[in-house]
Amino acid sequence: MQLSSCWGCHQSLLNANLNLLPILPALDIVYWPAVVDFKHGSLEEREDGSIVVGFLEGVARTKQDTENAKLMRKKCKIIVAIGACSCYGSVVGLANLFDKDELIKRKFMETESITDEKPKEPTKHVPGIEDYIVNIKDIIEVDVFIPGCPPTTENIIAAISYLLTLVSEGPKSLDKNKSVCENCNLFKEGCFLDDGKLCYGAITAGGCELMCPNQGDYCYGCYRATNKPGEKVNQLKSIAYGIEELTDEIGASLQHFLDVYLGSSNITNFYFRGDLIQRLAYEPDSFKVKEIETENGPKLILDVTPTGTEVSDDLVGLALFLLKNDPKFKFSSKTVCSHCDRDYVDKVPTDLKRDYVGLPNTETCFLEQGYICLGPVTQAGCGTICPNKANAPCLGCYGPPVGVKDQGAKFISTLGALCADKDPSEILKSIIDPAGLFNRFTLADSTLGHRFHDKMEKE
Ligand code: SF4
Ligand code: SF4
Ligand code: SF4
Repeated sequence: MQLSSCWGCHQSLLNANLNLLPILPALDIVYWPAVVDFKHGSLEEREDGSIVVGFLEGVARTKQDTENAKLMRKKCKIIVAIGACSCYGSVVGLANLFDKDELIKRKFMETESITDEKPKEPTKHVPGIEDYIVNIKDIIEVDVFIPGCPPTTENIIAAISYLLTLVSEGPKSLDKNKSVCENCNLFKEGCFLDDGKLCYGAITAGGCELMCPNQGDYCYGCYRATNKPGEKVNQLKSIAYGIEELTDEIGASLQHFLDVYLGSSNITNFYFRGDLIQRLAYEPDSFKVKEIETENGPKLILDVTPTGTEVSDDLVGLALFLLKNDPKFKFSSKTVCSHCDRDYVDKVPTDLKRDYVGLPNTETCFLEQGYICLGPVTQAGCGTICPNKANAPCLGCYGPPVGVKDQGAKFISTLGALCADKDPSEILKSIIDPAGLFNRFTLADSTLGHRFHDKMEKE
């Protein structure tokens, strides 16, 4: 579904050309006006929830966009926000710095390219314009975010391929009515659990032919959840609920278990809220906490139901709860800088200048040459295209990395630290449009003040 946008994300997907062939046979495309002649009515007529995955490109600039986003939410099980527009509001979100009347006047009456003698706002055959850019995730619930302006073709294909694994039936040998323990040579004696070590075979589906425990390693659950946990699940529970202190070894075990048992997506530039490890990193406070009774007394766990089997869900909830409060829990989210080939010493800028002044060299960090580059506060995934392939600073289109709530505010604080010895008034002279420079893609999602926030505050 295309909302108001430039078609760049569609274009990026279509750039895959023949690389689409391996995934197309697995897809049954039911609506894609940019490519196939499906009518809007055919989407409306579909049963609610009957589409597995829906991709949304663009922002809700018009009332029709808002309705279309809601329609997609109704029809699709998983909603993917694709591109900086649908993730953060993108450049269009900068409109929130103005009143709607000012925007309409500028666009339809004042723009230099208008040739009509009496220009006016069009009122016929156009959808009404929304007063503000409200982020898509604040209009409907979004499950997956793939930012970028546009996301690279590789990012999109990787995301679709991953989503296909979620609906795949798994290996032929998979038997969800059995557990790994049933084929384990250690079952009768000398099992890891007897030594108080975490092995997750009892809550993992059977059919595995590799059998890590038979090779001397713990089962971390890559066959995913069984519907019938094995009898050793009580031993596993007793060890897990007895954890008093999260040592490095136990923390690593829990995190590895969650990664493989839940099938962590582990794709750069792809935030899937259903991936509980990712959600723990991006939105740790979005979980509810609940108390359960265990043989070790009442325990707090996160209230999640990824498997539909209570005992397994509770063990996952416990692992998440313990990791949430563990300062060593790390979710790797790299920045554009970490993939940049340019040389740098300390990134301290010389004289700051606007990006059209002079010609940057192709070897040294842009910041050290005095050009604003948002690489330090932008999540990796694009391949660092702008600094390394286009001799242009990063503008930040992939949005903030994990742990950074506001990309622009973070950059201002970074720049302040880097320029600690400089005169602030001199710096400000070279920053004519701070919102457009630091929050070019993220203003609508920013914590900074803008018209929509003003309205919310008043209400
Ligand atoms: S818990 Fe692990 S080691 Fe013990 S029987 Fe099950 S798979 Fe084997
Ligand atoms: S040029 Fe930009 S992306 Fe590269 S190291 Fe410098 S700040 Fe980071
Ligand atoms: S370098 Fe920055 S602006 Fe360029 S594509 Fe990557 S994230 Fe976007």
